[in-house]
Amino acid sequence: MSDLATLLVETAHHWELLEDLDGTVVYCSPACREITGFDPAHFQGRADALGRIAHPGSRTLVSDFTREMRGAAPGVRRCLELCIQVQDGGVRWLRCHSRLITGPDGASYLRSTLRDISSRKALDLEMELSRLSDPLTRLYNRAFCLESIQRLLDRGSLAEDFAVVALDIDRLKKVNETLGPTYGDDLVRIAAERIASAVTAPDVACRLSGDGFAVIMQGKTPREMMAFVHKVLSLLDRPFILRGHEVNVTPSAGVLLGPALYDQPEDLLRNVSIALRRARESRNNRCKVFHSRLFVDASRQHEIEIDLHAGLRCGQFFLAYQPIVCLETNTVTSIEALLRWNHPRHGLMQPAEFLGVAEATDFIVPLGEWVLKQACHDMVETLVQRTDMGAVTMSVNISARQLAHHSICNTVARVLRQSGLPPENLKLEITETVAMENPVLTAQRLHAIKALGVKISIDDFGTGYSSLASLQNFPIDTLKVDKSFVGMMDSSTEQRKIVRTIIALAHSLNLEVVAEGIEQQEQWSMLKMLDCQSGQGFLFSHPVDADTMRAFICKERPQLRQ
Ligand code: C2E
Ligand code: MG
Ligand code: MG
Repeated sequence: MSDLATLLVETAHHWELLEDLDGTVVYCSPACREITGFDPAHFQGRADALGRIAHPGSRTLVSDFTREMRGAAPGVRRCLELCIQVQDGGVRWLRCHSRLITGPDGASYLRSTLRDISSRKALDLEMELSRLSDPLTRLYNRAFCLESIQRLLDRGSLAEDFAVVALDIDRLKKVNETLGPTYGDDLVRIAAERIASAVTAPDVACRLSGDGFAVIMQGKTPREMMAFVHKVLSLLDRPFILRGHEVNVTPSAGVLLGPALYDQPEDLLRNVSIALRRARESRNNRCKVFHSRLFVDASRQHEIEIDLHAGLRCGQFFLAYQPIVCLETNTVTSIEALLRWNHPRHGLMQPAEFLGVAEATDFIVPLGEWVLKQACHDMVETLVQRTDMGAVTMSVNISARQLAHHSICNTVARVLRQSGLPPENLKLEITETVAMENPVLTAQRLHAIKALGVKISIDDFGTGYSSLASLQNFPIDTLKVDKSFVGMMDSSTEQRKIVRTIIALAHSLNLEVVAEGIEQQEQWSMLKMLDCQSGQGFLFSHPVDADTMRAFICKERPQLRQ
């Protein structure tokens, strides 16, 4: 080497290494001292320079790389990033560029240039960590969860001893709305801490969404995994103290136990979510293990979703009408329209079997509009036939999605205009829980609807958590006492007290009160005694078709036997 060339190599920042094809170091530049802490003499004349300092995690990479390079054609260049252990025990990241060259003696040598990339690597790792972690809870995030599940799925049939658990708590939305998002963040953070406290390596906890968490478990028996799930549920069941406010949540869990043959981690997560949803819906079992039957349910829901569209197009929906009567005189004061579906394969379907899917897919918006049109049309017919029925209203149920949809007011106005039904003959029923989901928006929407001259009723009252203040903000005409209270009135004094309180509340707010689900004479007389004005139930009439309903209105009916 010329003096100048030697000077260049010896003073370079990067580390130059020349090895013969047996791996013996024939030249090692002094920069190795800066980078590794070792003197050049540590490597000079000895074999496998990089292999000896490679971090255990990089050892296989290094040996594969050097083997490949020694067999490569002259001039071929390759690059490797490796982690090394330096003299003081620390670790550093190096980028190694290698190529096979021919020396002045005609022999082949492996020339490697190594640069310290530790600071860039630290930045990369930090970025990778933030890509994979949730800033609020410091748990791993959805991306990490999916990548971890992918790694498990890549192990194929070997991955038997794993479970994916989806967890959620139910009060986040409420806390955000009532106490504010800072409290909501606290709730999520504390829930995350409780979950993380139960998790031990190699299991990992992730936050998937707002109040949705997942835990990926490995190397445990199904019994141990289920014990873990119940432990986490009980940890989440304890009261949460958010800046002095005590909040209680209801946690639920969906579990999928390995082995699981899925192509995509998303498919596995979807099935865990199905189990979680079932757990949430179930009153007495807050943990559900995924079973293919649940998947069949989910596919049936999917099938219903497709059939709903065809059903509306082909006229498979129809309305049944149930009268609401004055308890004093037994005359009809209102008629409630109840949706039915004549399904081509499943036969007659009740709203409980399809409304959830219609609601979840927003199909309830066009379907609800059809209900409104049909009910108004049938009511106009009724009023034409019975001119003395001018004060009777048609009650139409409105769902959460319909009420939230910006078009609701225009739709109601247009249907009234097109059908010719006077607005005071239409009443919209909104269930209490729907009204309370977003009281501010509800009040806004109800005021706009009320301005059209339409009446408003709060359905299934007593099942939600209305505050008197919110009720006063709604422009309502009627409260309908939920049928569960009426059904148990004769056997439970508690239920009777609730009914009495609701009736008194309605009177104090100057509202009409309707009791739902009256099936027995005793309930009729008890309700009358409690000063309830109107009632609805099988005792008076089941839901019937439009003609039967009209005949019912005309018929003379017996009064209450005292
Ligand atoms: P809802 O509005 O509270 O309607 C009353 C429900 O109680 C009806 O069930 C009715 O058949 C039933 N019912 C009436 N009297 C009695 C009785 O004496 N005993 C018992 N056990 N039940 C009685 P249905 O028709 O199955 O409707 C269930 C719910 O589905 C309705 O509850 C309403 O929330 C919803 N729904 C029905 N039609 C529509 C609709 O067109 N649109 C929307 N959004 N929801 C609807
Ligand atoms: Mg109703
Ligand atoms: Mg009801």
